Amino acid sequence: MTTTLDTALLPAVADFVSKDRKMLIGGQWVDAASGRTFATHDPATGQVITNVAHGEAADIDRAVAAARAAYEGPWSRMKPNERERLIWRVGDILSERADVFGQLEALDNGKSVAIATAVDVSWAADVWRYNAGLATKIAGSSITPSMPFAPGGQFHAYTRRESLGVCGQIVPWNFPILMSTWKLAPALAAGNTVILKPAEQTPLSALMLGEVFEEAGFPPGVVNIVPGFGDAGAALSAHMDVDKVAFTGSTEVGKKIVHAATGNLKKVTLELGGKSPNIIFNDADIEAAVAGSVAAWMFNHGQCCVAGTRMYVQRDIFDDFTQAVADAAAQSKIGPGLDPTTELGPLVSQEQFDRVNGFIQQGLADGARALTGGKRWGDEGYFIEPTVFVDVQPEFSIVEEEIFGPVVSALPFDDEEDVVRAANDSIYGLAAGIWTKDLSKAHRTAAAVQAGSVWVNQYNGFDTALPFGGFKQSGWGRELGDSAIDLYTQTKSVNIAL
Ligand code: NAD
Repeated sequence: MTTTLDTALLPAVADFVSKDRKMLIGGQWVDAASGRTFATHDPATGQVITNVAHGEAADIDRAVAAARAAYEGPWSRMKPNERERLIWRVGDILSERADVFGQLEALDNGKSVAIATAVDVSWAADVWRYNAGLATKIAGSSITPSMPFAPGGQFHAYTRRESLGVCGQIVPWNFPILMSTWKLAPALAAGNTVILKPAEQTPLSALMLGEVFEEAGFPPGVVNIVPGFGDAGAALSAHMDVDKVAFTGSTEVGKKIVHAATGNLKKVTLELGGKSPNIIFNDADIEAAVAGSVAAWMFNHGQCCVAGTRMYVQRDIFDDFTQAVADAAAQSKIGPGLDPTTELGPLVSQEQFDRVNGFIQQGLADGARALTGGKRWGDEGYFIEPTVFVDVQPEFSIVEEEIFGPVVSALPFDDEEDVVRAANDSIYGLAAGIWTKDLSKAHRTAAAVQAGSVWVNQYNGFDTALPFGGFKQSGWGRELGDSAIDLYTQTKSVNIAL
């Protein structure tokens, strides 16, 4: 296997990774206050790509001060249509440089360069443009008060939707540029300033995005980017001069963020883990359901919060269906993300590899049977074979816990009632898939499953305009669509005695 760093990098990517990368604070690219750096690795080989400034609490303090100054300064005076033009420009620059961003993302994360370019970067560009349009459409309403305790008075009342102020945003490594975009674009459209903390495993695309803000013409300090580890995220969550924190990542860290935010009761939104059910009824279009069910847990190597990793298959088609899924999964081409023909790339890190492998070993020890996979692929990098488990029980850790790797557990069910009960037997409620040709059954099941997104006869049916977020322990709030603006505004009522 060729090592990824031997693969020809685009000149802009090669140039970007040839230098140590600094952090963006107040419009300046600066070293960490401590002078420390950390390495970011190529997951296909484990080789160091480059070193990045190691942000800690002191850097978060500097970034918050810069974001506050920008919020109270030029950004607050900028009109919505001026914000619109800047935000739109970010989308256009991303589209113009989709190949560069796509390759950098594939290098740092391990995902396929074809997917990174066509899905992650081009969708991110779309999200920037969608939110540019929203900047000029944030409106309050006019209300006629009754004021029963002030008889005879005349009043005029209205609401204003105002920005929150300084927002901290903490993103994970599975979709680095896309998760940064989901958070940054609506926050900026609504008139806030931001400190973004990318994941320690994948800081590079966010840092390259930082250059785009300068180029698009944003005032200094509106977007600050501080790469670092969990301690930097914790400092941001606890900071007394941060008005809001938005987080995507594990449910465990989400709970820590809620606690950290109590000091000044900053607003919190959370997009957390999942263990999503994918339900295949016996009347489904089987060919489409097999392909869609493979994608449900293999897309992005299973490193998706919505991964459909509990596959419920009606009992009379169970054996044939699970075998077809296993056969299709086993044919996936495994390789480094920078190879455009790769279908399944490496997991993001050694830690993640060990974690996923640990779940697989536990599943086998519990008595599950792997129809395919169940072990490492190759002898370098963090590759795991796609793994389909049958003979599982609901209480197995592979069925209950978020694995975040290419591993699915298949369970048989008898009828609608039975499968809805099983699907909802989870602490999570992020997404669900339903495969059936019976329209009534599809609607009944969609209403009954406890999930923020339900996809019928497809999986991963995201859209920029569709709100996304979780029921139960999968999170608070809805990103995407115009509901994302709700997460970054607050309502003021103004009542005037005439
Ligand atoms: P994580 O939740 O620890 O990390 C996500 C982000 O939170 C990173 O930027 C990290 O630096 C930051 N962070 C860590 N500790 C923090 C703290 N105390 N306060 C504030 N920020 C903090 O996720 P992980 O360790 O990278 O992955 C572990 C597991 O989490 C995965 O195996 C997967 O199950 C889950 N995960 C879920 C998602 C998702 O989209 N739902 C994304 C990534 C990981």
